[in-house]
Amino acid sequence: MDFPGELHGRLVLPHDPDWHTARMAWQLAVDQQPAAVVFAASAQDVSATVLAARRAGLRVAPQGTGHNAAPLGELNRTILLRTDLLGEIAIDPLTRIARVGAGVRWLQLTDAAAKYGLMALAGSAADVGVVGYTLGGGVSWFARSHGLASNQVVAADVVLADGTLVRADADTHPDLFWALRGGGVAGVVTALEFRLFPMTETQAGLLAWPIEQAPTVLSAWRRWVDDVPDQVTSLGRMLRLPPLPDLPEPLRGRSLVAIEAVCDLPAPQADALLAPLRALAPELDTCGTTAVADLHLLHMDPPYPVPAAGDGMLLSGLPSGALAAFLGMTGAGRDLPLLSVELRHLGGALRPGIVRGGAVDGLDAEFALFAAGITPDAASVVAVHAVLDELRTAMSPWEAATGYRNFAERSRGRFDAPEVAARLRAVKTAYDSDDLIHANHPIS
Ligand SMILES: Cc1cc2nc3c(=O)[nH]c(=O)nc-3n(C[C@H](O)[C@H](O)[C@H](O)COP(=O)(O)OP(=O)(O)OC[C@H]3O[C@@H](n4cnc5c(N)ncnc54)[C@H](O)[C@@H]3O)c2cc1C
Repeated sequence: MDFPGELHGRLVLPHDPDWHTARMAWQLAVDQQPAAVVFAASAQDVSATVLAARRAGLRVAPQGTGHNAAPLGELNRTILLRTDLLGEIAIDPLTRIARVGAGVRWLQLTDAAAKYGLMALAGSAADVGVVGYTLGGGVSWFARSHGLASNQVVAADVVLADGTLVRADADTHPDLFWALRGGGVAGVVTALEFRLFPMTETQAGLLAWPIEQAPTVLSAWRRWVDDVPDQVTSLGRMLRLPPLPDLPEPLRGRSLVAIEAVCDLPAPQADALLAPLRALAPELDTCGTTAVADLHLLHMDPPYPVPAAGDGMLLSGLPSGALAAFLGMTGAGRDLPLLSVELRHLGGALRPGIVRGGAVDGLDAEFALFAAGITPDAASVVAVHAVLDELRTAMSPWEAATGYRNFAERSRGRFDAPEVAARLRAVKTAYDSDDLIHANHPIS
């Protein structure tokens, strides 16, 4: 492979001793077999990799962590461009803007922001990549009050498909800037700049009951979300937890129905709102004042790579028939290979057009469904995919017309309204006409 100049990072090839570690995605069940792996240590390395790939007739797949590696597909004509080493974090407390390298993971940023009394629109998991999550939209614990994370982006440094490094913002490369906020990137982002918000504490926690109580609990939660203010972001989920030692003792090995909520409200107001759910006598109740920097613990996402498979869809509503279908698929009567099946309440500031910004300026749906199972072997992959298919079919009457990239872990064509899709295609044609960039959810 012919790299212009010296790499500051590393090129790893199939005969190298650490090849199998280098090609590994966070989703351990995804067996990535690229032509080569580059660990870029600078924007210049990214540019050199793009030029080397072009000369060799290869493509380039940017990857922060590999949380959403499953839809990438065949990589044998692609260089896997890992951004782990791009670890810059700079926070300006006056403008409340964070500048974050493409290798930064959420916990690193939320901890750094907390030192200034600031919070970022982070997702539920500590080790998801800030850049990958934000480029895909970003549904945080403050999604209903603040909208998608991507709409808080003010600028991005992008290496284009011809190897040049540009800054994309509202004035420079505005179409590229529009597209990368939720719609897809026709290049490799080396750093993102976005707004943070002043906040150190919030009201948050989990309520849990034995899974047999799911019909009562989820029906009550479904009615409850109709009246909560936009400061409340919550989800209802069915959990079938393995007996793992790093899970809290009361949850280990249990099958539960749970509600997780963040209420960005004073404690007495949050308590008053939660009263009807607490009246259902949860076996576990952790709701109370919580440091924003600790919110990554709320959803109990695995803090290390796992072999897993998942998928999601947006629902235009959750009427009683939809909830009955959901419970029929996921309730106590079923022996499911799914660790978690959740329904996230959307709406509020997630409604399109409320927080204006990029290609995806909201989610035109009322709920997001996401399900995942652990897949240690090939048979479990087949079993989990079969159930994901069954769940999708059961919920398809309520599927929204658009999708959400971050919760899509299997390739799917349609995420956007036709006019947005057409504009995204024009950006892709202008910036990457020969499709050098290999994305998990390509602009097609
Ligand atoms: C346990 C878990 C919890 C999650 N919680 C949430 C949540 O609360 N809210 C939410 O919205 N989503 C959530 N997600 C989904 C997550 O946001 C997506 O999987 C996201 O794509 C992960 O980004 P990543 O960089 O970590 O993954 P990667 O697989 O590394 O990246 C995904 C894709 O992003 C693109 N990309 C990444 N980096 C770059 C770059 N530098 N330049 C150009 N393109 C790039 C590439 O196309 C890449 O294939 C969760 C996922 C998991 C597994």
